[in-house]
Amino acid sequence: MSRVRVGCGATVLLTLREWERLAALPEPGNEVEPLHWCELEPRHGGLHFAFGQQSGEDAWWVVFDLGAPARRELQILVGCSAAAEEADELGDRGVCTLAADHAGGHSFEIALDTGAGRSVPVLLPALPDPAALTAVQQHNHAVLAAAGLTAATYLQMESLQHQESRFGVISTRHLGLQTNVAVPRLACLAADTSGLAAAVAQGYLAVPGPRTRPPVVADAQLADSAVVHLTDTGRALLARLQPQLQD
Ligand SMILES: [Zn+2]
Ligand SMILES: [Zn+2]
Repeated sequence: MSRVRVGCGATVLLTLREWERLAALPEPGNEVEPLHWCELEPRHGGLHFAFGQQSGEDAWWVVFDLGAPARRELQILVGCSAAAEEADELGDRGVCTLAADHAGGHSFEIALDTGAGRSVPVLLPALPDPAALTAVQQHNHAVLAAAGLTAATYLQMESLQHQESRFGVISTRHLGLQTNVAVPRLACLAADTSGLAAAVAQGYLAVPGPRTRPPVVADAQLADSAVVHLTDTGRALLARLQPQLQD
């Protein structure tokens, strides 16, 4: 996970290609995780910035747009040079851990403002314009949003559930991937699925660990995907939501 989770609540899920790229960097600072949180101040403007990996002197960031998941990039960014004016109770002056020229407050101001242990609600992309929706569609979007889901991710979760009922929870058949992973799972185009990272952040979906993850193959479509599977929390959520949604 990212170093702090006191930011704006936006999340991004690395594709297999991005994950492998960060994992292959020299002098890594951390083990690379698939899910990252934006570290900027809540309600900031512009793009979101999630810390990806430290490699020697280089700080790698995932820059992303919640409303347009295909707009995302790994960037090496220089750090912000700001330091807190007053020392904390240990005599240290906090140094901003964000990238230079970032939007919103410095990291030490955000941390002071929120305190430890605060849970940050995940941020979803904006709902479609209500004027473009029927009353039933508005109802369904509201039910899903209250559970922290977008319609696109809900449909993917339903598809996973359907595959589980068809192939069983353990399958090596799905999408032709020959693996030993407990699947069905979804080789999902993260770039296309709005709200997917938020569903992982809430534990509805999980990413298989590195040992059970398929290697990035020459298949460009798979490399630009994130592999996820339903969790018991996700299955329970589907069971709770299905009676609430209208046809
Ligand atoms: Zn953000
Ligand atoms: Zn700063």
